[in-house]
Amino acid sequence: MLKHITSISLILIACFSLSLASKEISTNTEPAFELIVLGDTGGTRDGNLSAFLLRALADNKYIGLDAGTLLNGIEKSLENNAFDDLDIDTTQKTIPRINILHNHIAAYMISHGHLDHVSGLLIASPDDNSKPIYALPSVNKTISNSYFNWQGWANFSDRGTLPHLNKYKMVDLPLQQTIKIPNTSLNVKTFSLSHPVESSAFVIENDKDIMIYFGDTGPDELEKENKLTQVWQYLAKQVQHKNLRGIVIEVSFPDDRDDKLLYGHLTPKWLTKELTHFSSLLDDPSLLQKTKVIISHVKSSTLKDVNPREIIKKELQQHNSLGLNFIMAKQGNKILL
Ligand SMILES: [Zn+2]
Ligand SMILES: [Zn+2]
Repeated sequence: MLKHITSISLILIACFSLSLASKEISTNTEPAFELIVLGDTGGTRDGNLSAFLLRALADNKYIGLDAGTLLNGIEKSLENNAFDDLDIDTTQKTIPRINILHNHIAAYMISHGHLDHVSGLLIASPDDNSKPIYALPSVNKTISNSYFNWQGWANFSDRGTLPHLNKYKMVDLPLQQTIKIPNTSLNVKTFSLSHPVESSAFVIENDKDIMIYFGDTGPDELEKENKLTQVWQYLAKQVQHKNLRGIVIEVSFPDDRDDKLLYGHLTPKWLTKELTHFSSLLDDPSLLQKTKVIISHVKSSTLKDVNPREIIKKELQQHNSLGLNFIMAKQGNKILL
Protein backbone atom coordinates (compact mmCIF):
# COMPACT_ATOMS: atom_id res chain seq x y z
CA MET A 1 0.00 0.00 0.00
CA LEU A 2 2.73 2.40 1.11
CA LYS A 3 4.74 1.47 -1.95
CA HIS A 4 1.68 2.21 -4.11
CA ILE A 5 1.16 5.69 -2.55
CA THR A 6 4.85 6.54 -2.96
CA SER A 7 4.83 5.69 -6.64
CA ILE A 8 1.64 7.77 -7.20
CA SER A 9 3.23 10.76 -5.47
CA LEU A 10 6.41 10.28 -7.50
CA ILE A 11 4.34 10.34 -10.70
CA LEU A 12 2.53 13.48 -9.48
CA ILE A 13 5.80 15.23 -8.63
CA ALA A 14 7.23 14.22 -12.01
CA CYS A 15 4.15 15.56 -13.87
CA PHE A 16 4.21 18.79 -11.87
CA SER A 17 7.89 19.49 -12.52
CA LEU A 18 7.47 18.54 -16.17
CA SER A 19 4.64 21.07 -16.56
CA LEU A 20 6.73 23.74 -14.79
CA ALA A 21 9.66 23.02 -17.06
CA SER A 22 7.59 23.16 -20.25
CA LYS A 23 5.91 26.37 -19.07
CA GLU A 24 9.31 27.95 -18.46
CA ILE A 25 10.60 26.87 -21.86
CA SER A 26 7.52 28.10 -23.70
CA THR A 27 7.68 31.60 -22.17
CA ASN A 28 11.38 31.78 -22.99
CA THR A 29 11.07 30.67 -26.56
CA GLU A 30 7.89 32.44 -27.61
CA PRO A 31 9.11 34.91 -30.22
CA ALA A 32 8.61 38.66 -29.87
CA PHE A 33 9.71 39.97 -33.28
CA GLU A 34 9.53 38.95 -36.92
CA LEU A 35 12.51 39.82 -39.10
CA ILE A 36 12.33 39.50 -42.88
CA VAL A 37 15.51 39.60 -44.94
CA LEU A 38 15.00 41.78 -48.02
CA GLY A 39 18.68 41.85 -48.91
CA ASP A 40 21.65 39.99 -47.46
CA THR A 41 24.76 41.21 -49.31
CA GLY A 42 26.82 44.35 -48.96
CA GLY A 43 28.19 45.74 -52.16
CA THR A 44 27.66 44.96 -55.76
CA ARG A 45 24.65 42.62 -56.04
CA ASP A 46 21.85 44.97 -57.13
CA GLY A 47 18.55 43.41 -56.12
CA ASN A 48 20.01 41.88 -52.94
CA LEU A 49 21.57 44.67 -50.87
CA SER A 50 21.34 45.31 -47.11
CA ALA A 51 17.73 45.62 -45.99
CA PHE A 52 15.43 44.05 -43.41
CA LEU A 53 11.85 44.45 -42.24
CA LEU A 54 11.11 44.12 -38.53
CA ARG A 55 7.83 44.08 -36.65
CA ALA A 56 6.61 43.31 -33.17
CA LEU A 57 4.49 40.19 -33.62
CA ALA A 58 1.34 41.97 -32.42
CA ASP A 59 1.77 44.75 -35.02
CA ASN A 60 0.84 44.51 -38.68
CA LYS A 61 3.35 47.15 -39.78
CA TYR A 62 7.11 46.73 -40.10
CA ILE A 63 9.91 49.20 -39.92
CA GLY A 64 12.49 49.05 -42.69
CA LEU A 65 16.02 48.60 -41.34
CA ASP A 66 18.10 50.02 -44.19
CA ALA A 67 16.74 49.83 -47.72
CA GLY A 68 19.54 48.82 -50.10
CA THR A 69 16.95 46.61 -51.79
CA LEU A 70 13.24 47.15 -51.33
CA LEU A 71 10.68 46.01 -53.92
CA ASN A 72 12.86 43.18 -55.22
CA GLY A 73 13.32 41.92 -51.64
CA ILE A 74 9.57 42.16 -50.94
CA GLU A 75 8.90 40.20 -54.15
CA LYS A 76 11.40 37.46 -53.16
CA SER A 77 9.90 37.32 -49.65
CA LEU A 78 6.38 37.03 -51.06
CA GLU A 79 7.52 34.12 -53.28
CA ASN A 80 9.03 32.54 -50.17
CA ASN A 81 5.76 32.94 -48.19
CA ALA A 82 7.60 35.06 -45.61
CA PHE A 83 4.55 37.31 -45.08
CA ASP A 84 2.18 34.42 -44.36
CA ASP A 85 1.67 35.39 -40.72
CA LEU A 86 1.00 39.02 -41.57
CA ASP A 87 -2.59 40.24 -41.52
CA ILE A 88 -2.64 41.57 -45.10
CA ASP A 89 -5.62 43.54 -46.40
CA THR A 90 -6.31 41.60 -49.61
CA THR A 91 -9.17 43.90 -50.66
CA GLN A 92 -6.55 46.46 -51.79
CA LYS A 93 -6.41 47.04 -55.55
CA THR A 94 -2.62 47.28 -55.61
CA ILE A 95 -0.34 44.37 -56.57
CA PRO A 96 1.00 42.44 -53.52
CA ARG A 97 4.48 44.03 -53.34
CA ILE A 98 3.00 47.53 -53.47
CA ASN A 99 0.37 46.57 -50.90
CA ILE A 100 3.19 45.59 -48.51
CA LEU A 101 5.13 48.77 -49.35
CA HIS A 102 2.13 51.07 -48.83
CA ASN A 103 0.24 49.44 -45.98
CA HIS A 104 2.77 47.44 -43.99
CA ILE A 105 5.90 49.60 -43.72
CA ALA A 106 5.47 52.33 -41.12
CA ALA A 107 8.90 53.97 -41.46
CA TYR A 108 12.48 53.53 -42.67
CA MET A 109 15.47 53.58 -40.35
CA ILE A 110 18.63 54.26 -42.33
CA SER A 111 21.98 53.40 -40.73
CA HIS A 112 24.14 55.45 -43.12
CA GLY A 113 24.05 57.07 -46.52
CA HIS A 114 26.04 54.55 -48.57
CA LEU A 115 24.15 53.50 -51.71
CA ASP A 116 24.02 49.82 -50.78
CA HIS A 117 21.78 50.86 -47.84
CA VAL A 118 19.46 53.35 -49.59
CA SER A 119 19.27 52.47 -53.29
CA GLY A 120 16.08 50.38 -52.93
CA LEU A 121 14.32 53.25 -51.20
CA LEU A 122 15.42 55.75 -53.87
CA ILE A 123 14.36 53.56 -56.78
CA ALA A 124 11.00 52.66 -55.19
CA SER A 125 10.23 56.25 -54.16
CA PRO A 126 8.02 57.18 -57.18
CA ASP A 127 5.69 54.24 -56.28
CA ASP A 128 5.97 54.63 -52.49
CA ASN A 129 3.45 56.39 -50.25
CA SER A 130 4.12 58.89 -47.51
CA LYS A 131 6.16 57.74 -44.52
CA PRO A 132 8.97 59.01 -42.31
CA ILE A 133 12.69 58.34 -42.78
CA TYR A 134 14.56 58.16 -39.47
CA ALA A 135 18.33 58.62 -39.36
CA LEU A 136 21.10 60.41 -37.51
CA PRO A 137 21.42 64.08 -38.60
CA SER A 138 24.62 63.40 -40.60
CA VAL A 139 22.93 60.51 -42.43
CA ASN A 140 19.83 62.55 -43.32
CA LYS A 141 22.17 65.25 -44.54
CA THR A 142 23.89 62.82 -46.90
CA ILE A 143 20.54 61.53 -48.22
CA SER A 144 19.41 65.11 -48.74
CA ASN A 145 22.60 66.47 -50.28
CA SER A 146 23.55 63.47 -52.42
CA TYR A 147 20.26 61.99 -53.63
CA PHE A 148 17.09 64.02 -52.93
CA ASN A 149 18.54 67.10 -54.63
CA TRP A 150 16.82 67.14 -58.08
CA GLN A 151 20.12 65.94 -59.60
CA GLY A 152 20.79 62.49 -58.18
CA TRP A 153 17.01 62.04 -57.89
CA ALA A 154 13.82 64.07 -57.49
CA ASN A 155 13.44 65.53 -54.02
CA PHE A 156 10.73 63.32 -52.51
CA SER A 157 11.62 64.63 -49.05
CA ASP A 158 10.61 67.63 -46.99
CA ARG A 159 14.02 69.31 -46.81
CA GLY A 160 16.94 70.45 -48.97
CA THR A 161 16.75 71.55 -52.62
CA LEU A 162 13.38 73.11 -53.56
CA PRO A 163 10.73 72.17 -54.48
CA HIS A 164 9.92 69.59 -51.79
CA LEU A 165 7.62 66.76 -52.87
CA ASN A 166 7.03 66.05 -49.14
CA LYS A 167 6.46 62.30 -49.53
CA TYR A 168 9.09 61.49 -46.92
CA LYS A 169 9.28 63.33 -43.64
CA MET A 170 12.97 63.18 -42.68
CA VAL A 171 13.33 62.85 -38.91
CA ASP A 172 16.70 63.39 -37.21
CA LEU A 173 17.33 60.79 -34.53
CA PRO A 174 18.89 62.09 -31.34
CA LEU A 175 21.85 60.01 -30.13
CA GLN A 176 21.09 57.56 -27.34
CA GLN A 177 17.57 58.80 -26.68
CA THR A 178 14.46 56.67 -26.93
CA ILE A 179 12.02 57.58 -29.70
CA LYS A 180 8.65 55.95 -30.34
CA ILE A 181 8.00 54.88 -33.95
CA PRO A 182 4.43 55.96 -34.81
CA ASN A 183 1.94 53.28 -35.94
CA THR A 184 4.03 50.53 -34.33
CA SER A 185 4.62 49.40 -30.75
CA LEU A 186 8.37 49.84 -31.19
CA ASN A 187 10.80 52.26 -29.56
CA VAL A 188 14.26 52.90 -30.90
CA LYS A 189 17.49 54.17 -29.39
CA THR A 190 20.32 55.08 -31.77
CA PHE A 191 24.09 54.74 -31.36
CA SER A 192 26.82 56.09 -33.63
CA LEU A 193 29.19 53.58 -35.30
CA SER A 194 32.64 53.87 -36.91
CA HIS A 195 32.71 53.54 -40.69
CA PRO A 196 34.21 55.79 -43.42
CA VAL A 197 31.01 57.84 -42.95
CA GLU A 198 29.07 57.95 -39.68
CA SER A 199 26.97 54.78 -39.36
CA SER A 200 24.37 53.75 -36.76
CA ALA A 201 23.11 50.94 -34.59
CA PHE A 202 19.42 50.84 -33.69
CA VAL A 203 18.32 49.24 -30.43
CA ILE A 204 14.69 48.31 -30.97
CA GLU A 205 12.50 47.71 -28.02
CA ASN A 206 9.01 46.37 -27.47
CA ASP A 207 8.18 46.22 -23.79
CA LYS A 208 10.55 43.63 -22.21
CA ASP A 209 12.02 42.50 -25.53
CA ILE A 210 14.87 44.13 -27.41
CA MET A 211 16.92 43.47 -30.51
CA ILE A 212 19.76 45.40 -32.10
CA TYR A 213 20.44 46.17 -35.72
CA PHE A 214 23.95 47.28 -36.66
CA GLY A 215 24.69 49.21 -39.83
CA ASP A 216 28.18 48.82 -41.28
CA THR A 217 30.88 49.03 -38.63
CA GLY A 218 34.58 48.46 -38.12
CA PRO A 219 35.97 46.94 -34.90
CA ASP A 220 36.92 49.36 -32.10
CA GLU A 221 40.56 48.26 -32.10
CA LEU A 222 41.10 49.15 -35.77
CA GLU A 223 38.86 52.20 -35.77
CA LYS A 224 40.65 53.61 -32.69
CA GLU A 225 37.27 54.57 -31.26
CA ASN A 226 35.12 53.00 -28.57
CA LYS A 227 31.76 53.17 -30.31
CA LEU A 228 31.02 49.43 -30.19
CA THR A 229 32.13 49.39 -26.54
CA GLN A 230 29.47 51.98 -25.78
CA VAL A 231 26.83 49.79 -27.42
CA TRP A 232 27.99 46.64 -25.56
CA GLN A 233 27.98 48.50 -22.24
CA TYR A 234 24.44 49.73 -22.84
CA LEU A 235 23.19 46.28 -23.88
CA ALA A 236 24.89 44.63 -20.88
CA LYS A 237 22.78 46.87 -18.60
CA GLN A 238 19.61 46.21 -20.60
CA VAL A 239 19.85 42.42 -20.43
CA GLN A 240 19.62 42.59 -16.64
CA HIS A 241 15.87 43.22 -17.03
CA LYS A 242 15.12 42.63 -20.73
CA ASN A 243 15.33 39.76 -23.22
CA LEU A 244 17.87 40.37 -25.96
CA ARG A 245 16.18 38.49 -28.81
CA GLY A 246 18.54 39.17 -31.67
CA ILE A 247 21.67 40.88 -32.92
CA VAL A 248 21.82 41.70 -36.63
CA ILE A 249 25.42 42.53 -37.44
CA GLU A 250 27.64 42.61 -40.48
CA VAL A 251 30.50 40.35 -41.48
CA SER A 252 31.62 41.68 -44.83
CA PHE A 253 34.75 39.62 -45.49
CA PRO A 254 36.31 36.25 -44.54
CA ASP A 255 39.27 36.22 -42.13
CA ASP A 256 41.94 36.29 -44.85
CA ARG A 257 41.10 39.92 -45.67
CA ASP A 258 43.93 42.26 -44.70
CA ASP A 259 42.99 44.57 -41.80
CA LYS A 260 44.18 47.51 -43.91
CA LEU A 261 41.56 46.65 -46.53
CA LEU A 262 38.53 46.36 -44.23
CA TYR A 263 37.33 49.96 -44.77
CA GLY A 264 35.16 49.96 -41.65
CA HIS A 265 33.87 46.38 -41.79
CA LEU A 266 34.10 43.17 -39.76
CA THR A 267 35.45 39.68 -40.40
CA PRO A 268 34.56 36.54 -38.38
CA LYS A 269 37.69 37.08 -36.26
CA TRP A 270 36.83 40.69 -35.47
CA LEU A 271 33.17 39.95 -34.78
CA THR A 272 34.21 37.18 -32.40
CA LYS A 273 36.52 39.63 -30.63
CA GLU A 274 33.71 42.16 -30.26
CA LEU A 275 31.15 39.59 -29.06
CA THR A 276 33.70 38.20 -26.60
CA HIS A 277 34.07 41.71 -25.22
CA PHE A 278 30.28 41.99 -24.91
CA SER A 279 30.07 38.61 -23.22
CA SER A 280 32.76 39.65 -20.69
CA LEU A 281 30.50 42.52 -19.55
CA LEU A 282 27.59 40.20 -18.71
CA ASP A 283 26.90 38.83 -15.22
CA ASP A 284 25.61 35.69 -16.91
CA PRO A 285 27.37 35.23 -20.29
CA SER A 286 25.21 32.16 -21.04
CA LEU A 287 22.34 34.63 -21.68
CA LEU A 288 23.97 35.34 -25.04
CA GLN A 289 23.43 31.75 -26.16
CA LYS A 290 19.67 32.45 -26.25
CA THR A 291 20.19 35.41 -28.59
CA LYS A 292 20.12 34.85 -32.34
CA VAL A 293 23.11 36.45 -34.05
CA ILE A 294 22.14 37.20 -37.64
CA ILE A 295 24.99 37.83 -40.05
CA SER A 296 24.38 40.41 -42.76
CA HIS A 297 26.27 42.32 -45.46
CA VAL A 298 28.50 39.52 -46.79
CA LYS A 299 30.33 40.86 -49.85
CA SER A 300 30.17 38.62 -52.88
CA SER A 301 33.34 37.39 -54.53
CA THR A 302 34.22 38.01 -58.16
CA LEU A 303 36.00 34.65 -58.34
CA LYS A 304 34.59 31.34 -59.56
CA ASP A 305 34.26 28.63 -56.89
CA VAL A 306 34.68 31.07 -53.99
CA ASN A 307 31.67 31.30 -51.69
CA PRO A 308 32.30 33.94 -48.99
CA ARG A 309 29.04 33.05 -47.17
CA GLU A 310 30.17 29.46 -46.66
CA ILE A 311 33.69 30.53 -45.64
CA ILE A 312 32.34 33.09 -43.15
CA LYS A 313 29.86 30.57 -41.72
CA LYS A 314 32.65 28.04 -41.20
CA GLU A 315 35.06 30.57 -39.68
CA LEU A 316 32.40 31.82 -37.23
CA GLN A 317 31.85 28.24 -36.05
CA GLN A 318 35.60 27.66 -35.71
CA HIS A 319 35.85 30.68 -33.38
CA ASN A 320 32.58 29.92 -31.57
CA SER A 321 33.82 29.10 -28.07
CA LEU A 322 30.97 31.23 -26.63
CA GLY A 323 28.41 28.77 -28.07
CA LEU A 324 26.55 31.46 -30.01
CA ASN A 325 23.64 30.82 -32.34
CA PHE A 326 24.75 32.28 -35.69
CA ILE A 327 22.29 32.55 -38.56
CA MET A 328 23.37 33.66 -42.03
CA ALA A 329 20.76 36.15 -43.32
CA LYS A 330 19.25 34.96 -46.61
CA GLN A 331 17.11 37.06 -48.91
CA GLY A 332 13.41 36.19 -48.64
CA ASN A 333 13.75 34.44 -45.27
CA LYS A 334 11.65 35.11 -42.21
CA ILE A 335 13.42 34.84 -38.85
CA LEU A 336 11.45 34.85 -35.60
CA LEU A 337 13.28 36.49 -32.71
ZN1 LIG B 1 27.25 48.66 -46.81
ZN1 LIG C 1 28.84 51.43 -45.78
